[in-house]
Amino acid sequence: MTIQPKSIPMLDLQAQYEPIKNEVLNALTNVFESKQFILGSEGRRLEASLAEYCGCTHGVGVSSGTDALIIALMALDIKPGDEIITSSMTFFATAGSIARTGAVPVFVDIDPDTYNIDPKKIEEKITDKTKVIMPVHLYGQMADMESIMAIAKKHNLHVVEDAAQAIGASVTWSDGSVKKAGSIGDIGCFSFFPGKNLGCCGDGGGVVTNDKSLYETLIHLRNHGANPRYYHQIIGGNFRLDELQAAVLNVKLPHLEDQHKGRQKNAAFYNSKLEGSKFKTPVVVSGNRMIFNQYTLRCNDRDAILEKLKEKNIAHAVYYPVPLHLQDCFKELGYKVGDLPETEKAANEVFSIPIFTELSDNDKSWIVEVLLS
Ligand SMILES: *Cc1c(COP(=O)(O)O)cnc(C)c1O
Repeated sequence: MTIQPKSIPMLDLQAQYEPIKNEVLNALTNVFESKQFILGSEGRRLEASLAEYCGCTHGVGVSSGTDALIIALMALDIKPGDEIITSSMTFFATAGSIARTGAVPVFVDIDPDTYNIDPKKIEEKITDKTKVIMPVHLYGQMADMESIMAIAKKHNLHVVEDAAQAIGASVTWSDGSVKKAGSIGDIGCFSFFPGKNLGCCGDGGGVVTNDKSLYETLIHLRNHGANPRYYHQIIGGNFRLDELQAAVLNVKLPHLEDQHKGRQKNAAFYNSKLEGSKFKTPVVVSGNRMIFNQYTLRCNDRDAILEKLKEKNIAHAVYYPVPLHLQDCFKELGYKVGDLPETEKAANEVFSIPIFTELSDNDKSWIVEVLLS
């Protein structure tokens, strides 16, 4: 028998924190006692483990996922007027970061099954100003990187992966090799916002790369471009990750696989219960490992469903209600309704439900009951 809970949150950070509380507090205490708050041993340890976890040679801690994207574009020397191809169905930071470098976001429609950029529609958008393709691995599943890398190679473009929602996700290449999110393009970008699968206790982010010279540029850029201290050949900024955040992440990274597995188990439960219903469940491409930062359903009477969830105090969210090509701030780019039909249709039909690892069996059953009622 399912018991009706008072409410169900989108994420229960208290439940995530409880089992690692002592470890976290010890790590924080150590930082306070060391008084090394900026660029110290916790950050260096995190960078090494992040690189290893992602299957890359180098990692750099930065101040947020947004700053990870900006510093990646700065390292690739993106200039005003350059064009960067990306998805419109994503968090604002993807295109916001592009625009903040002075470059122009060029939006490509999505694959309606995965909600990721559709590689078949990329080439028609390439011009002589195109410098970078920036795929987003939405909800925790990677975009079709093998096709994207082939296009990038053919047109001599860089690739920056917005892997903010996809740390630990992977794809299987046609030669059978498994490649992790962030490790395929020139630079992979991650966010440690508390709502991501690996979250810190504030803002934080990271970048990974296999390119030593890009790594060195990134290291300098995040500290005002200084090399050595007080000498600047390039202009960077303050993109540093602080030691308290790095310490929390060092405690949490070893638990990340368990976090992923809990979400995958919850997703499998929802999939089995919602099979054959009016809801389209997440499509995971064969060979892909999805880490379910979100569990996103789709239906054509979304408003009525959201009303039902709201009535029962079940948290839910729409990622994202307004595609980026239709945002007011990008009006000058000249997009209009109808330009990206799959993106626009998805924006009207998708919604996400709680998927976090600590969700109880009773609460999952209750959510399914309400959805099917
Ligand atoms: C969260 C997120 C970001 C930004 O990360 P912050 O750490 O919040 O700055 C960028 N892109 C995507 C797709 C995200 O989900």
